[in-house]
Amino acid sequence: MVCASFRFYEELNDFLAPALRFRSVARRCAEGATTKHMIEALGVPHTEVELILVNGESVGFDRPLCEGDRVSVYPVFESLDITPLLRVRAQPLRETRFVADAHLGGLARLLRLLGFDTRFDNHFADAEIVRLSVAERRIVLTRDRELLKRREVTHGCYLHALVPQAQCRELVARLDLAGSARPFSLCLECNAPLRPLARAAALGRVPDGVAARHRRFVTCDACGRVFWEGSHWQRMRQVVGELLGR
Ligand SMILES: [Zn+2]
Repeated sequence: MVCASFRFYEELNDFLAPALRFRSVARRCAEGATTKHMIEALGVPHTEVELILVNGESVGFDRPLCEGDRVSVYPVFESLDITPLLRVRAQPLRETRFVADAHLGGLARLLRLLGFDTRFDNHFADAEIVRLSVAERRIVLTRDRELLKRREVTHGCYLHALVPQAQCRELVARLDLAGSARPFSLCLECNAPLRPLARAAALGRVPDGVAARHRRFVTCDACGRVFWEGSHWQRMRQVVGELLGR
């Protein structure tokens, strides 16, 4: 056994037992235990961690702990560029494709509204979510920290907020997504791209009054729905503004 001390920063403290929060705590570690093993044993999923310092030096998840090590663990940074310091994984957590777990259907639709490719199906089992994350390089979105502790999951985000709009704002802030949003580019139902539809082609596919009043239409080739900039669209535009903090 060796003894090392651990200090977690910012929102990583939410994952810790109250007695361990916002202070340095000493822990006995098995011989050969790694940073990842001990961080997860204390309750923090590795996907939430972007930077680990041991005795002031950036290390990876596989660093074995030694007697007297001082371990500082930092969350994914919102805006500070720490790329030169990063050792924990090959790419930073800035991919913007997602797979949402079965409880996050509302969040999935809001992300699609903002134009972020988000797989969601309330029949997806955890194993399927993990498989999609790896095969399609998607960030796992969940409120289940056990799912994020699975070894195969390298990119994930734990959502602290409970309701979809707040979850979406949390994610936009954390991954700095506002600049890369492309609102109204994806079908909310299918996650498929929307494409412009000529008015002539929209005739017969929308109510006559709509065809008379509107000029611009888009359609989803997956489900065949046709959308136009009516009152529902205007409400959605307001939601987009709120989500992106505009
Ligand atoms: Zn569709």
